[in-house]
Amino acid sequence: MIQLIRGFKDILPGEVELWQFIENQTTSLFENFGFKDIRIPIMERTELFSRSIGEETDIVEKEMYTFPDRKGDLITLRPEATASIVRSYIQHRMYATDPVQKLYTIGPMFRRERPQKGRYRQFYQIDAEVFGVSSPLMDAQIMFMLMTLFTRLSVTDCTAKINSLGCPDCRPAFTVGLSQLLSAKADSLCEDCSRRSARNPLRVLDCKVPACKAAMADAPSILDFLCPDCRSHFDSVMRHLTLLGVSFELDKRLVRGLDYYTRTAFEIQTTLLGAQSAIAGGGRYDSLVKALGGPDIPAIGFAIGVDRLAEIAAQSHPDLTRKPKVFIAALGEISLTLAFEWVSKLAAAGIHAEMDMAGRSLKSQMKQADRLGAGHVLISGDAELEKGQVLLRNMATKEQVPVPVKDLVEEMRNRFA
Ligand code: AMP
Repeated sequence: MIQLIRGFKDILPGEVELWQFIENQTTSLFENFGFKDIRIPIMERTELFSRSIGEETDIVEKEMYTFPDRKGDLITLRPEATASIVRSYIQHRMYATDPVQKLYTIGPMFRRERPQKGRYRQFYQIDAEVFGVSSPLMDAQIMFMLMTLFTRLSVTDCTAKINSLGCPDCRPAFTVGLSQLLSAKADSLCEDCSRRSARNPLRVLDCKVPACKAAMADAPSILDFLCPDCRSHFDSVMRHLTLLGVSFELDKRLVRGLDYYTRTAFEIQTTLLGAQSAIAGGGRYDSLVKALGGPDIPAIGFAIGVDRLAEIAAQSHPDLTRKPKVFIAALGEISLTLAFEWVSKLAAAGIHAEMDMAGRSLKSQMKQADRLGAGHVLISGDAELEKGQVLLRNMATKEQVPVPVKDLVEEMRNRFA
């Protein structure tokens, strides 16, 4: 038997209802904040990701699914959505009508990481991006929106960690100091970090290898290096988070695994998932639109890991499977044909209806109705039909009432719609 690829997974009926619930909650909440849905391709030119995420990141160095297409062009299965949305924003000159655009998308991402619980090679993200707003009010607002979504999904055991990564004016003073510290400790760093430390020392702050973590224990805080503009931007983000009741913790080591961030960076972590504690992350990337060939337009965004979110939300939403409103149990030839007609018309009229097409016994049909969780069973035997009626059984109370066959679909609609 052919099995699915390692690190990939099926989301089966029974689980998928929770995913739909999460998606519906996301869509309605984000649209109230003025976000519009955008659908972007699953593959892009490799260059888009290497230039935006950064050549020296784990994603680009080790995790992308990259291959030549049949003509030899290098293409990559998207490891994240921001780069594609920025590409789309620039390509379609969305800024020409209004530089301010708020966009969101939900879909699969691909990274060839080591699979484990909470970490997959195809995983799903809810991604939101705002272009054209540099105000710190937006940073606070999207974090508030994110936390509101989590509250709606009863995911409350989570903490927002925030940091500022400064801007091209103030960050170099920090990275130069960090590089010096790192060169003194070069021997104790992992292979990746000793290679990256000169050109991209921020990556070392992000490294999970214990030796690198220890080497970084006395690293300075980037917050001490912020220029006055970045400092007041960050202070304002924190003030407005407090105003909206979003609690947060400062985390001076939070740099995120992608190179494009400037100023605000944040991550939402939970204790409910074991090792994979991050359920969402994001930040500002004020230079990326320009770096990818667009105008100088600031932006900010975040991504939520849906697989992890669903895993936590499942604890408070045990069963969202849709149950039929009515199951029609037919006994006899004429009843079967009538049941067929009624079920089809009820379903088309917006009422979830089911039947057994195999003509089994009443007992086995009742069992099936029970298994499906039907609220009512309409029992239609040829004998009742002769009296022009069928029996409607309430499966919870076991009460049975006769219902006239004439205008039955209309009658059911009135009861159940
Ligand atoms: P990132 O794009 O790396 O900032 O990730 C944003 C969120 O996506 C993380 O907080 C995770 O919840 C989720 N995520 C990232 N990588 C994976 C993965 N391999 N498997 C499952 N979820 C992931």
